[in-house]
Amino acid sequence: MTKFVYSFEEGNKDMKPLLGGKGANLAEMKKIGLPVPLGFTITTQACNAYYENNKNLGSEMESEIFNFLEDLEKKTGKTFGSIENPLLVSVRSGAVISMPGMMDTVLNLGLNDDTVKGLAELTNNERFAYDSYRRFIQMFGDVVLHIPKYEFDRVLDEIKRKINASSDTELTVDALKDMIKKYKNIIKRQAGINFPNEPKKQLLMSVRAVFDSWNNQRAIIYRNINDIPHDLGTAVNVQSMVFGNMGETSGTGVAFTRNPATGENKVFGEYLLNAQGEDVVAGIRTPQSIDQLKDFMSGKIYNQFMEIAAKLEMHYRDMQDIEFTFEKGNLYLLQTRTGKRTATAAIKVAVDLVAEGKITKEEALMRIDPMQINQLLHPVFDEDELNKANKLAKGLPASPGAASGKVYFSSEHSAQAASNGEKTILVRIETSPEDIEGMNMSQGILTARGGMTSHAAVVARGMGKCCVAGCGELKIDEERKILKVNDEIIKEGEYISLDGNTGNVYKGIIKTKAIELSGNFGKIMQWADEVRRLKIRTNADTPRDAKTAVDFGAEGIGLCRTEHMFFAEARIPIMRQMIVSDTKEDRIKALDRLFDFQKEDFVGIFRAMGERPVTIRLLDPPLHEFLPQNDDDIKVLADNMNIAFQKLKDKVLDLKEFNPMLGHRGCRLAITYPEIYQMQAKAVITAAIEVSKQDGLNIKPEIMIPLVGHAKELEILRKLVDDTAKQTLKENSCELQYYIGTMIEIPRAALTADEVARYADFFSFGTNDLTQMTFGFSRDDAGKFIDEYKNKEIFENDPFTTIDVKGVGSLVRTASKLGRLEKENLKLGICGEHGGDPKSIEFCEEVGLDYVSCSPYRVPIARLAAAQAVIKKNN
Ligand code: PEP
Ligand code: MG
Repeated sequence: MTKFVYSFEEGNKDMKPLLGGKGANLAEMKKIGLPVPLGFTITTQACNAYYENNKNLGSEMESEIFNFLEDLEKKTGKTFGSIENPLLVSVRSGAVISMPGMMDTVLNLGLNDDTVKGLAELTNNERFAYDSYRRFIQMFGDVVLHIPKYEFDRVLDEIKRKINASSDTELTVDALKDMIKKYKNIIKRQAGINFPNEPKKQLLMSVRAVFDSWNNQRAIIYRNINDIPHDLGTAVNVQSMVFGNMGETSGTGVAFTRNPATGENKVFGEYLLNAQGEDVVAGIRTPQSIDQLKDFMSGKIYNQFMEIAAKLEMHYRDMQDIEFTFEKGNLYLLQTRTGKRTATAAIKVAVDLVAEGKITKEEALMRIDPMQINQLLHPVFDEDELNKANKLAKGLPASPGAASGKVYFSSEHSAQAASNGEKTILVRIETSPEDIEGMNMSQGILTARGGMTSHAAVVARGMGKCCVAGCGELKIDEERKILKVNDEIIKEGEYISLDGNTGNVYKGIIKTKAIELSGNFGKIMQWADEVRRLKIRTNADTPRDAKTAVDFGAEGIGLCRTEHMFFAEARIPIMRQMIVSDTKEDRIKALDRLFDFQKEDFVGIFRAMGERPVTIRLLDPPLHEFLPQNDDDIKVLADNMNIAFQKLKDKVLDLKEFNPMLGHRGCRLAITYPEIYQMQAKAVITAAIEVSKQDGLNIKPEIMIPLVGHAKELEILRKLVDDTAKQTLKENSCELQYYIGTMIEIPRAALTADEVARYADFFSFGTNDLTQMTFGFSRDDAGKFIDEYKNKEIFENDPFTTIDVKGVGSLVRTASKLGRLEKENLKLGICGEHGGDPKSIEFCEEVGLDYVSCSPYRVPIARLAAAQAVIKKNN
């Protein structure tokens, strides 16, 4: 029989897959002697069994849960359902990978009309007992019975108004009793059942609800965004309650062992007196800084907590995010986990922990999520612009970055506008997990309530989104879709700007500028460079992009797409002339005019790159992409070129292709019009000669021929390019080394790579086209259905983002092997979008490619990912 339940005493931190993160860490804290309320964990396996059993717990699992409950009763000396000494428990989800706020929690379970009296007597605090009871009914109604929260909030507000209470803590016992009666009516009306009095029934219903919450909409979206597999399941932790709402010597809080925004080595946290955990996270009341705990009970709780925080950080050797509660002056720990942090903090904490001798450099490298580095590379507001900006208000700098966008007051509208291409700022009184999609699609998030550990702050930091939270000066009217601050009124659709580094909110749009990277960032990059084997190149078509990439550490250009160069205003007419030419002579005339432009392009790029290798790809897209498509534009061109409208229109129609991705493009163009590649090859070599001579550099260009599917294509085109290069060198009385290679982006080329390699000095895997052609998905259109493929778990990842190791990867592997069989030293690289994706980079390391090439802003990500790939391979 499978064991579905473990007491905290039975587990440890290495049992996360079974006990979930929360369960494993509660067990670990117990093991190292920290004050953790007793309890047990129902495993993730139990969750999967529940789903396999058509959402039934089954009698075996139920009786196992009750056995552990009995054991808990014995250990605590309290009894479930007893009036004299009732055992109350919390029921909390705990997935293997933490998903903050995504799943459900029920507190104070075990209360009913009888036990509440016992609790009141036992604690000598009737108000506390009834407050706990009304919280329980509300949570149970929301989480287990799915009754909208506002139903309960409405009653709460109504009663507060009636007795003139401004905060929840002012609710009297009578008011609470009245509320309980009304809450129960809501349950009866909305769920059609009486509120269950029987604690064991409450427990089983709650366990089922937590299992169900694994598949609620927001959890599914969160897993999709964060690439968390859908089949992990969640554990459920049942833990005896300790109460932060037992009066003014009780409280609850959340703290990080270091600052999660900056990485500063100082405990950072917040707490509320006389409150339960959910109050801090939900941002209902604005909490106090943990520093203020020093003045509470002569620092007793503060000192004890600091000692524990240090112990936990030392034990886990990483920054921890800790939940705690103190009941009548006694401190308890309810959770510890690796603290989510901004990229700035991740880097600082990693570098500091190495300096403190707590972790090795390699561990430090593994601690940073390469994709998170994106956050650092995002712009901040231009200072001059910022000085001129109209400041509206100041909130908490919850998550760094700078963002301008149109105000939207609901997640749905914000997401909708964003999917239509608008830049949006989601403005909410406070966010809740339902807002996840709108948050993800927005440029930034602004809330009126909540602290640095509120939902908005935690989630935004995880997403790397700019967020200003707890901006109390704002009067947000979500219904009328307006935001009032001082005398200003901002309506939906108007622009505001957020500075996540200062918490300032501005009216209108503010220009941004690139940020400077810290010394710690440089250190991490340097450590990564010491470890990685793969070279990192960039995909860049302009000297400016090339320079940006070099500044980020690019060691060469892996793909310079030459087609973009022809779209400039001065060039496109000549390009069009070339395309519509009827004779080779006319084509050559136009190409001769393009030559000068093209040569200057390459001079600029070679200069920007110095002696670093540069791979220039000859023309790739189908020619119709350069031609005008509607009659008006064709008419203008016909007039300019002095040819008849109909003649030009016929030519345009003639060039139109049904499936241009599979059409007359890439090397096929040069098979039919060799003079195009001749011009480009001549321009590359002439530019290389010029820069070599003028700048005293040794430029060794790499000329790349795209879309080869048959070795013969490359044989012919290699000769064409080679002859042109030799001729150009001869005309200039020059010697210069150059290489001619090909992209591997057609499955046939991969499968016959030994033949192809005979004519190639290098291969560069064009995994965009290779993915397209292996799956038979059009890369321009597949976006429409890929999400559905992910939802249906056909794909774990979009194969255009992360390489499909099994299929496309197998072609890469085969081609690498065959290519190197033919030519031992064949240089291998990748220049599809996958070159900047950490998981794909891991694959490239494993296959033994020489380099990856990615967009300039991804270069630091690739440097770190390449180092991590080596470390993973060695471990
Ligand atoms: C590729 O196909 O992977 C590639 C890099 O070329 P492009 O995206 O220009 O087709
Ligand atoms: Mg391609």
